[in-house]
Amino acid sequence: MVKKKIVILGAGYGGLRALKRLQDLKPNAEIVLVNKNSYHCEKTALHEVATGAASPGDICYPVSSVVDPQYTTFIKATVSKIEHHSKTIVFENREPLRYDYLLIALGFEFESFGIKGLSDYAYQITNIPSVEHIYKQLNEKLRAVKPGEKLSIVVGGAGFTSIEYIGELMEQLPFLTKAAHLKRDQVSVSCVQSNVLPMFSEDLSGYIIGKLEKKGVTFIKGRVANITANSVFYKESKASTDSSELTADMFVWAGGVRGSSVITNSDFKSDRGRVLVNNNLTVPDCEDVMMIGDCSIVIDDVTGLPYPTTAQIAMQQADCAAANIVAIFNQKPAKDFYYKPKGTVCSIGRHDAVGVVMGKQLRGVTASVLKKVIDTRSIVLIGGVDTVIKKQKLFRKKSM
Ligand code: FAD
Repeated sequence: MVKKKIVILGAGYGGLRALKRLQDLKPNAEIVLVNKNSYHCEKTALHEVATGAASPGDICYPVSSVVDPQYTTFIKATVSKIEHHSKTIVFENREPLRYDYLLIALGFEFESFGIKGLSDYAYQITNIPSVEHIYKQLNEKLRAVKPGEKLSIVVGGAGFTSIEYIGELMEQLPFLTKAAHLKRDQVSVSCVQSNVLPMFSEDLSGYIIGKLEKKGVTFIKGRVANITANSVFYKESKASTDSSELTADMFVWAGGVRGSSVITNSDFKSDRGRVLVNNNLTVPDCEDVMMIGDCSIVIDDVTGLPYPTTAQIAMQQADCAAANIVAIFNQKPAKDFYYKPKGTVCSIGRHDAVGVVMGKQLRGVTASVLKKVIDTRSIVLIGGVDTVIKKQKLFRKKSM
């Protein structure tokens, strides 16, 4: 009898963790994993590559270290759309692929929110090529600064990505400016934002602002309105008619992401590349398709709002989705997904962080150590202990 085919799209936190669980659960099916690259990227560390604190090899590992060829075939290809009525995946660079069961975990993409100039002039922290580009441009721009001139770096947004990027940038700038034969005060860093890490208490966000201001960051309250090649224009509020101008030799946008454009191109009911999934993670009206991670929307029963998109939730959804696929294969009911928050920690440089873990507010070195433990745990859950040892994650040092 021909085995049914389970296809997983995406080898990020959600997709690769789901593959690992499925291989453990051994469904009587053929598994196919599709990803556009042959590596898994720890996207929670992208800011480290953007600042030169880590190299791409430090934060990536081969998908093959998780794929068990006894159960799974890996296809390196770029998906362009899904035609769920004919159960077909269409690719940019290969023949279409049919599936019996589909798990979509295609992650996030850059979101411009229609802000003029953003797509043309802003740098983005979304994948390895984008952060390599930021680091290369940063060095080129630093080397182009003449004596007596200044370089202005502006970051838009103050969520996780922005704060972790700024925190790391402030640690690297002394080395980077020295290498470019500049004085440290020839480079300024500003952050235009409407709220600093709103998921944390005022106390914790105050701690972050205080620490980064002490290192020289200027926080400017405002909403980015439009961007040109050398300026950022921002308004006090959405309703404001006047805008202020800030010189920006480099503008890094980390003010929001959207789900995958593959979702938008496919015939799913979606909002900004994300689909509001059923409680058991299936896509409404498509019982043979599940969606997890940043391209799915799951509502928090307590707040009535969508859960924030995080690696943590993607991995928990992966466990639920894998178990549900096996249940469906065995003609058993699929279970609902319940998110168990394990805590949230945001780094502000190598040895400082803030967070809330098990209801406790943490800051400083303790929070920073915990952050490294959380990051390491996610590698263990996906790549296994061998990958952690190979990556020397806990002991990694900046190689400058
Ligand atoms: P991803 O990890 O984005 O994986 C998607 C996969 O799909 C990738 O392998 C990609 O190559 C592949 N793919 C995409 N499009 C295609 C296509 N068309 N064809 C084929 N393959 C494709 N979360 C936390 O929980 N804690 C944190 O501290 C944290 N910090 C962060 C810091 C930064 C700087 C950033 C950028 C994010 C951070 N996040 C954090 C968020 C976290 O990275 C995301 O929520 C997480 O990556 C989502 O996982 P995912 O599996 O949905 O997608």
